[in-house]
Amino acid sequence: MIAGPNRTTGGGMDEAALAARFRAVDVWIFDLDNTLYPAATDLFAQVDVKIRDYVMELVGATAEEAHRLQKDYYRRYGTTLRGLMLEHGISPDGFLEYVHDIDHSVVAPDPHLGAMIERLPGRRFIMTNGTRRHAEKVADRLGITRHFEDVFDIVAADLLPKPHRATYEKFLGQAGIDPTRAAMFEDLSRNLEVPDALGMATVLVWCRPAPRR
Ligand SMILES: [Mg+2]
Repeated sequence: MIAGPNRTTGGGMDEAALAARFRAVDVWIFDLDNTLYPAATDLFAQVDVKIRDYVMELVGATAEEAHRLQKDYYRRYGTTLRGLMLEHGISPDGFLEYVHDIDHSVVAPDPHLGAMIERLPGRRFIMTNGTRRHAEKVADRLGITRHFEDVFDIVAADLLPKPHRATYEKFLGQAGIDPTRAAMFEDLSRNLEVPDALGMATVLVWCRPAPRR
């Protein structure tokens, strides 16, 4: 995994300025999926199929129709769950449990990542659009659970996913975090726009694609 400063926020900063910016940070906030483990692990492919199956069952659609609906809700509401709640009035608990019931054993332990996170001075959190249980399973597999103070999940966010501003504000308020002393790590640049606007340092995390053979 390679983390680079997000140039949409650090744009124009030289290395010394960037280093000074991060020296002022004492709260480290990490997205979970495709940020703390490589995107190639592709846990979302499993979740994606579970969501499609849920929609198929709910509306009595074919796999193809369910897939289309799933993606349409994702685009319009930020998550398929939100679309299902608003358009079909489903309760979130059963949905969240069903779609996160996946094989977490494909996540490989990452002692190097653990050692790096341990060196970050201050408080450390996971902030995810998934569930706490899912985050805990992933963190346990990675071997990094003990390095984090807490997980802020989609239930804590009142089911309002990132990048809704209210969700970041709720998390920051609840944990007593001054955003100007915090850094946010994310694989989706759209989820870094609000943190940047709130004064956080932002880091876009990306994976170099595996070389072709
Ligand atoms: Mg992510």
